[in-house]
Amino acid sequence: MHLRRSQREYHDLNENLRRRLTELRAISEITELIHSTLDFEQVGQLVLEILSKVIDLPGSALFIIDKGRDETVFSASFGLAPGLTKRTPYAYGPDAQIHGEEMFACTTLMDRGGLMVMFCASGERLERLGSEDRLVLTSVANELAVAVENSELYKLTRRLAVTDELTGLYNYRYLLERAEEEIGRAKRFGRSLSLLMIDADEFKVYNDTNGHVAGDVALAEFATAMRGAVRDIDIVCRYGGEEFAILLPETDGEGERTEQLTVSIGLSTYPGTAQDREALLRRADDALYVVKRSGRNRVSASPLGVDALRARDLEIEREAQREPLAEGVL
Ligand code: GH3
Ligand code: MG
Ligand code: MG
Repeated sequence: MHLRRSQREYHDLNENLRRRLTELRAISEITELIHSTLDFEQVGQLVLEILSKVIDLPGSALFIIDKGRDETVFSASFGLAPGLTKRTPYAYGPDAQIHGEEMFACTTLMDRGGLMVMFCASGERLERLGSEDRLVLTSVANELAVAVENSELYKLTRRLAVTDELTGLYNYRYLLERAEEEIGRAKRFGRSLSLLMIDADEFKVYNDTNGHVAGDVALAEFATAMRGAVRDIDIVCRYGGEEFAILLPETDGEGERTEQLTVSIGLSTYPGTAQDREALLRRADDALYVVKRSGRNRVSASPLGVDALRARDLEIEREAQREPLAEGVL
């Protein structure tokens, strides 16, 4: 009796080892496959085919999502009806939905950096996945995510998504992303961080005098000059139009200021004058407003009196809008 149980245990152990070995072989085969080709479309299906044998899944789909852009950057399916492959995982879930006769569900295998890997299969089967099966899936998800991150196409689309076309500077979206990140870092390490809001003075006049194309050239040249004037760690962005923002990590309000350019600059500093991203942007913008209203071509960190100035300008604007009406009446 005792011996028989031992034999069964021995048999189970053997079976287990055989299974682990099969899984390891599959992971190694998949890893090699993923990193040996640039054709992700083809690789995805093969990967799922191998997985389906190892963990006994008749049909499955896998999605890699760029969370920042909320976009599926890679998808693959195996053993599913055609057409299903083109869907995003949101179309399947997050709760299980009917797929043929079965309930179909998705699970997150990996969520790291800007990428998230989702795996979709029969809900019932997903629920019964053992921890070893999950480990296999997670290893494969990691390999795929690394391959996507390393792919030139991904790097290029990621770069384009955060780049301003005219100047080649970072765009507003990236400014928001980095401001959040840098404030977090400054908070953790007890450091300072500054933001410069820069606005070209009388740029409308420049355009009117030299033409819009020359204006574009001037903006691009100004961008290059700014990039050359800051440190490598500083983040120069086009805020929009003829407005720029420079994020200066590890910098308090006492930093160097440049006054060679005919621009107006508003400055705000964490934790000096602003406690979060919104305040950092608002106070720099307010300080810039004050500079504009007090003669331009200057840098200031003080938004003092900005509310009164904005209110007065609003009133002047309203007056200007009312004037033609008055003329019409006369
Ligand atoms: P201020 O000193 O008060 O900032 O005056 P300003 O003329 O610079 O400001 P305003 O906001 O009145 O006008 C901004 C001008 O910038 C008008 C707009 O045509 C120009 N501009 C914005 N984006 C671009 C661009 O991409 N290319 C060109 N050429 N001009 C642009
Ligand atoms: Mg402006
Ligand atoms: Mg301007």
